[in-house]
Parts: sequence; C-alpha cells; structure tokens
Amino acid sequence: MLMLMLLLLPPPRTGRLSSFTLRSRYFKSLALRSAPGRAMASAFTHAFAAVALGNMASGKARGWRFWVLAAGSAVLPDADIIGFAFGVDYGDLLGHRGFFHSLLFALIWALFVVLLEFRQTRGRELAWLIGFFFVATASHGVLDAMTNGGLGVAFFSPFDTTRYFFDWRPLEVSPISITRFFTEWGGAVLRSEWRYVWLPLGSLWVCVWTARRFFEALSDWRKSSRL
Ligand SMILES: [Zn+2]
Repeated sequence: MLMLMLLLLPPPRTGRLSSFTLRSRYFKSLALRSAPGRAMASAFTHAFAAVALGNMASGKARGWRFWVLAAGSAVLPDADIIGFAFGVDYGDLLGHRGFFHSLLFALIWALFVVLLEFRQTRGRELAWLIGFFFVATASHGVLDAMTNGGLGVAFFSPFDTTRYFFDWRPLEVSPISITRFFTEWGGAVLRSEWRYVWLPLGSLWVCVWTARRFFEALSDWRKSSRL
C-alpha cells in the first residue's frame, strides 16, 4: 500500500524558496547523480544526538535495548544509500535523503519500534515512547539539513518532495565511503560536529543531569526534614 502510494506521487520539484528557516535545494545535476560521495552527518553524531536527547527527556533508567534502538533509529535513515547499488538516483523519491529521511518515515518507524519492542506499554509511557522514537529518527534529517553538502532533506516526502536545508549549515558534510572518512575530510567532519553538536548538546545534557540530581536531593531533604 505504501509502495503504491509512493509510486503514484509526483516527481521531485525543482528548488524554490520556502518560508522561515528552511530553504529548498534540489539539484539533480549529473555530477551528483554519478558521484554521490558527499551526503551525511557522521553516524556517531546521529547516534550521540539520540542518546543525549533520550537521557535529557527521560527521568528514569532504561535498559540497553532501549538505548540501542534509540541510537539505531537515529542512524537508520542513511540505510537509503543502499539504493545507489540498485540504480536509485540521489534525487529520487527513495534516493538518499529522500523519503527515508522524512518526518512521515520517522513516525512510521517510531510506531513500528514501539509495536515490536514495547507492546505491553500503555498510557503516558506509550505516548512518550512513540514521541521519543519519532524525535530520535527525525533528528537525523535535522542534522543532515545543517550540513554543507549533498542534496537537501525531503522532510515532507512523499507529499512534498522538495529537498530542504536550513539557512545555518555549520556541519561539514561527511563522506558516504568509510575509507574516505578516515582522511583529512573525516577529521574536518568530526571537528565541526564536535563544535556544533557534541559540545553544545553534551553541555546541555550535563546541565539537565545536574539540575535533576539537585531537585531529587532537595526533594529527599524536604521529606526527611518533615519526619
Ligand atoms: Zn542522512
């Protein structure tokens, strides 16, 4: 059904300026189609962002399966590079940074994970899990839209296949090839990701952790002083 829906949808549109901070970048150039080597934030950074967000948003201890799924969900959209081996072009609906980087895919994946792994869960916890896995998966596209290369991200695919970048794009785009990653280029990628993702998100994580411990200690102290 989903595949049928995707096949019936219109082809990608050429670039147009969108509102606010999103700017479309759709270039179906021959160079990009034949040499799709530049196209992602590194997998480590995607995984780190999901784990940091999960730790900040969740006040309770969670098992290793949860964290593996969180990190995996954030990395998963780049599995669309497999399409290159089957002749799918970068700018196609199912191409790299296409449907599998969209918000709809993030929602479908979140529902799938929760159904598969947390089907006994109910109520507020269920809503939290769906919301979290949606954010963890969608965070991938957000980071990709902050990179300085490749095509933009089809956030609203399959309804609107325009590729988007944010106006602020401080992240050095990462090579798809692993061998290219271990070069000067990979070093530049890690430096920019350290500066614009790991450092700010890590600092925020420490602040949230400290504040949470502080309020827990304060609450314990109040309870004990009442006794
Ligand atoms: Zn990506």
